[in-house]
Amino acid sequence: MKIGFIGLGNMGGPMAANLAKEGHEVLGFDRADVQVEGVTMAASAVAAATGADVVITMLPNGQILRAVANDVVPAMQAGAALVDCSTVDVDSARAVAEQAAAAELLFVDAPVSGGIGGAAGGTLTFMAGGSADAFAKAEPLFDIMGQKAVHCGEAGAGQAAKICNNMILGVTMIATCEAFALADKLGLDRQKMFDVVSTSSGYSWTMNAYCPAPGVGPQSPADNDYKPGFAAELMLKDLRLSQQAATSADADTPMGELAQALYTQFVENEEGTGMDFSAMLPRFEQRGRG
Ligand code: NAD
Repeated sequence: MKIGFIGLGNMGGPMAANLAKEGHEVLGFDRADVQVEGVTMAASAVAAATGADVVITMLPNGQILRAVANDVVPAMQAGAALVDCSTVDVDSARAVAEQAAAAELLFVDAPVSGGIGGAAGGTLTFMAGGSADAFAKAEPLFDIMGQKAVHCGEAGAGQAAKICNNMILGVTMIATCEAFALADKLGLDRQKMFDVVSTSSGYSWTMNAYCPAPGVGPQSPADNDYKPGFAAELMLKDLRLSQQAATSADADTPMGELAQALYTQFVENEEGTGMDFSAMLPRFEQRGRG
């Protein structure tokens, strides 16, 4: 396939490289001066999109996605697919889907889980929204860039799944970290805490697979001075998207709201920027109730 790939950052770069490695013709564009193995660089987003069967975007936010879509949608041929893999607000995903449909293009919103390691290793999970035809066109590419693609429903459903998942993740990480901090103050050994909780009803992905306590459980960013991993500011981005969606859908999400407030404080006032999101544990350790 002829693929245009726009946004070749930490995630997009390795994803585009994996497509090129499988023999696809990939024409890339990034506003920064980047080089990606196997990818021919185009002079503009429009140049990367012109004549492509599929255009993939991997961009920072919904506003940038909308701006790029305004440029590339008119340049794409009818029947081609626009596949946005960025994490953006549901409203932007739906707006770009409508714009694409009006131009007789297929559209899939397909945010990912799996981080930079998953992008490099081709083991991402895609959560996709769009028509069955649109999903079918993108699926072979998801199979190269990832290990699993779930068709979640119509346009916007992929973003909805992503932010709901990450709202659970943020809330659960905070719960796991505050429980470890409490256990410390109660004199409970961390390994014992892990042994019990990881096999009891408090278990979760954050405890069992990504334990925030160093030296306990499987290797995680906690064992590497809390270097990300999944950075606290990216968790904050996703929590903000979840609360934006909750406001627009009139959903009551008190835990998500509190998680957003705590990650805002951590990132903006407590040196959480650049730390893994599990560094909430040392944050709680330093605090008392007051
Ligand atoms: P990044 O900042 O490394 O990459 C974004 C790229 O987009 C940059 O290279 C930037 O130069 C480029 N860009 C910005 N505006 C552009 C424009 N107008 N035209 C062309 N290129 C433009 O970010 P990332 O970590 O690769 O994340 C990309 C998306 O994936 C985000 O939406 C993020 O939330 C999501 N995501 C990231 C992770 C992660 O662990 N990094 C995990 C899951 C999802």
